[in-house]
Amino acid sequence: MSGKNHSGSRSHPPGQRSCIEVRSSRIEGRGVFAGCDLPARRKIGEIHGVLRMLPAARRQVEGRTRIYLIELSARTALDCTHGGPFRFLNHSCRPNCYLRVQRNRVEVYTLRRVDHGSELTVDYGVTPHLEGMECRCASPGCRRRL
Ligand SMILES: [Zn+2]
Repeated sequence: MSGKNHSGSRSHPPGQRSCIEVRSSRIEGRGVFAGCDLPARRKIGEIHGVLRMLPAARRQVEGRTRIYLIELSARTALDCTHGGPFRFLNHSCRPNCYLRVQRNRVEVYTLRRVDHGSELTVDYGVTPHLEGMECRCASPGCRRRL
């Protein structure tokens, strides 16, 4: 962890109003949506979680339908089961956001401008789901399975 330790705080950074909403998604379960127009390349928040060691953490979540585990390195992962709204970010093969791992923190940035009301998505890459996961992003060039 860095010297300035904000972990454990669920509040938004001062001066930065939350512009995101969580509601049901046509991709999967609940999703994260833009509550206002978001500019490109802007940090919009962070996924909070508990640091776990791999591969034990992977075994722990095997078989769960919803997995909120972000692998930070070959040995560590962030368990975001209670990680705030951004854990509901769905996958898209053409995402409008990306995750940036800084030490043991996972920050969420927009890739491009996102219109008010659009769902925010990231590219999960590989998932720890055993059978792979079916993709329902419906974007052109969808990989179908993760
Ligand atoms: Zn897809």
